Amino acid sequence: MKEVIVLSGKGGTGKTSIAGSLAALAQNKVLVDCDVDAADLHLLLRPVTREEHDFRSGQTARIDAEKCTQCGLCREICRFNAITDFQVDPVSCEGCGFCVQICPAGAVSMEENVAGQCFVSDTAYGTLVHARLGIAQENSGKLVALVRQKARTLAESQGADYIISDGPPGIGCPVISSLSGASLALLVTEPTLSGIHDLERVMEVCRHFNVPVLVCINKYDINRDNTRRIEEYCATQQVDIVARIAFDNVFTEAIIRGQPVVACSDGRASRQIKLLWQSIEDKLSSN
Ligand code: SF4
Ligand code: SF4
Repeated sequence: MKEVIVLSGKGGTGKTSIAGSLAALAQNKVLVDCDVDAADLHLLLRPVTREEHDFRSGQTARIDAEKCTQCGLCREICRFNAITDFQVDPVSCEGCGFCVQICPAGAVSMEENVAGQCFVSDTAYGTLVHARLGIAQENSGKLVALVRQKARTLAESQGADYIISDGPPGIGCPVISSLSGASLALLVTEPTLSGIHDLERVMEVCRHFNVPVLVCINKYDINRDNTRRIEEYCATQQVDIVARIAFDNVFTEAIIRGQPVVACSDGRASRQIKLLWQSIEDKLSSN
């Protein structure tokens, strides 16, 4: 089983549109949306939820008013000022558990936080594992790890040939969590100066984790000088550019229609993405 992750170094490059199309093209696969902070693969794949699981992360103190003698000790010792009027403010509480230890009445306990939800859904293109991180939660790397683990278990039980993942933007903790152990990373970039910079950064991360890389230049024709810069950079890195996709309104149309590009058009962009998937399959079979 091979795991392909689509990354971009930042949002807005067409990453999810391309990941959605690969999801439609790959046979016998499980799909994953690792962008748990702003998941949008579901907009293209229209999942119908089959399973929903709470994602628990971290703990918050809770005071039992019936047991509390209102001695005030917990408020004094909490260095995060999370206790007022004998109640815990869950946003300020860091979950250190000190108040549990010092409370003479045994009135404080720790409770696990529900930090988000993980879903297993059916789509027209196969099973999709995706997630939603709760508001103000900062555990996206951990949730990505959970989503990937769930996808792997499902893929193994289904005898899937591929896991196709839409990765998170950027190069932070969620990206690292979504990348380690992947078979191949497809880096989607666009010919802007920031696009080149982002490509360099995400390529370094992939190198660090020993994940083979292929590059796709989206909207290559909006700035041919910058496209040439990307080509030169990839040549110095000995990385293959497997697709140059021309600017095409079909990307926007596909989002509006809620379909992957390859499912809503037979045009040039669609054909280029099909060739892109062929190149990925060839690369995976030669590794
Ligand atoms: S230390 Fe325990 S008994 Fe004292 S105020 Fe806090 S919760 Fe209540
Ligand atoms: S668990 Fe720690 S941070 Fe939270 S209320 Fe108790 S002492 Fe304060």
